[in-house]
Amino acid sequence: MGGDRYCGFCGKHETEVARLIAGPIANICNECVELQHGMLNEDPSRKRSLHEVLSRARQRRISELEAENRRMREALDLFWSQSLAIETLARRAYGESSQIYQNVLAAILKAQEFYKKLPKAARAALSQEEKP
Ligand SMILES: [Zn+2]
Repeated sequence: MGGDRYCGFCGKHETEVARLIAGPIANICNECVELQHGMLNEDPSRKRSLHEVLSRARQRRISELEAENRRMREALDLFWSQSLAIETLARRAYGESSQIYQNVLAAILKAQEFYKKLPKAARAALSQEEKP
């Protein structure tokens, strides 16, 4: 039984959760089990539809991704301002033709390559936030 396994409710990969329980048709993670348990406790007389459970799991996952994007955005802002400052310092101190300046520039460009590889959804959220 190889291959990747995901929670059928929130879509998380098995490596993202503490436990993934495999079912005959779908899998469910420990977080979604807890969520369903909580929903049953809210009003035990009312049976929750599968749709309701699914939409709550998705909503929670979306909030998590949004929080991740915010953190990424903050890290990037810091990265851009710091790299700009470092580039200016190195240029003024050593001159554009110096090896040190070239190394600094190469490091900044390498970090920019890393930014390009960020997940597409996170980048989309970031560029949307950047629009005034
Ligand atoms: Zn789940």
